[in-house]
Amino acid sequence: MKAKYHSRKFVITILFLVIVSIFAWLLMPVIGYRAVGFIFLIGIVALGTLASPSQIFLAAFLSALIWNYFFIPPTLTFFIHAPDDIMMCITYLAVAVATGFLAQRIRQHEAAALKAKQLEESEKLHQAILNSISHELKTPLTTIIGSATALQDDKTIQDEEARSQLTLGIIEASSRLNRLIENLLDTSRLDSGAMKLNLDWHDISDLVSATLGRLQDLTKNHVLEVKIADRLPLVKLDFALMEHVLSNLILNAANYSEPGSRITLSVNQNENDLTIMVDDSGSGIPKEYEKMIFQKFYRIPGSPSGGTGLGLSIALAIVEAHGGKIWVEQRQPPARGSRFVLKLKLDEAKLDSSKPNPSEKLSDDWSHL
Ligand code: ADP
Repeated sequence: MKAKYHSRKFVITILFLVIVSIFAWLLMPVIGYRAVGFIFLIGIVALGTLASPSQIFLAAFLSALIWNYFFIPPTLTFFIHAPDDIMMCITYLAVAVATGFLAQRIRQHEAAALKAKQLEESEKLHQAILNSISHELKTPLTTIIGSATALQDDKTIQDEEARSQLTLGIIEASSRLNRLIENLLDTSRLDSGAMKLNLDWHDISDLVSATLGRLQDLTKNHVLEVKIADRLPLVKLDFALMEHVLSNLILNAANYSEPGSRITLSVNQNENDLTIMVDDSGSGIPKEYEKMIFQKFYRIPGSPSGGTGLGLSIALAIVEAHGGKIWVEQRQPPARGSRFVLKLKLDEAKLDSSKPNPSEKLSDDWSHL
């Protein structure tokens, strides 16, 4: 493998020299054999910006030989008659090697600066992520501590209305905390490849009702509409993980649209596919962000606080591990908002145990997110 790489580099260097020599040959009647040295020198500098030290050294040495043999009189011999031509040829060799190496050093410095810059940017990103997660952890915790403390107050204990408000606040803040921790744990499990699919045959209506049941409190300010086609076949999936995907989609629909607006969850069969769609009437997702929102930690600039940008990346990894697809599209006017589409293959062979282990695929897919 290494030998093949070296011989390729060697061939490229020779080819480069042949092209420069032909060019010099064509120009020689106009510029004379001495100025041909400058053409070779320009060639070596150009090579220095791209090639390795061994290639530059080889090119400098061979170009000196070519110049001597084909251009410096007497031609077609390595013998040089005039002492100033000998001096010129030796000087050329020294300058060619030095120039080539200098050009390469500049390139290395540029590459090192770029690396350093990327590292600095990635550290900044990590810091921003850490700040955002700390903030997301702190906000619900502050609510819980504040409400629990208020609940100990004698006056509050007697006020039923205040008590129920505070309790509700604690429940909502705990669910938010729970969701965040679940997402963080999923992310770390997916990163380490420790998450396994627990596949079994399930009725999609059970999945939908279990998910909506869990989210009852968090979606109570929206109008939820569920449309499930009749006689859908059973689907082979990991129930808990798919429930997690659906939860993330429905919670996003609720979080990024006005209270009181409609969220529609529909399930249909199209030939061999099962399609689940979650429609909301929010502000929608601009086209340029449609792919980016599925990246880990990505949030559309200006998104309201209360998220970490993990939910959709987890959903994508889980859906792809099931051999499915997930994407977002703008809803067609007059409707407004976004439509998240989740497609699962109903083809039994796709999820057959004889096929590659889906749990292995899960970590692979996640690693390139
Ligand atoms: P989070 O919601 O925690 O920020 P997600 O990965 O679930 O993370 O979503 C990533 C981003 O995509 C969100 O920050 C938001 O900007 C955008 N987004 C997701 N769902 C919707 C939606 N239904 N409507 C508008 N924007 C959305």
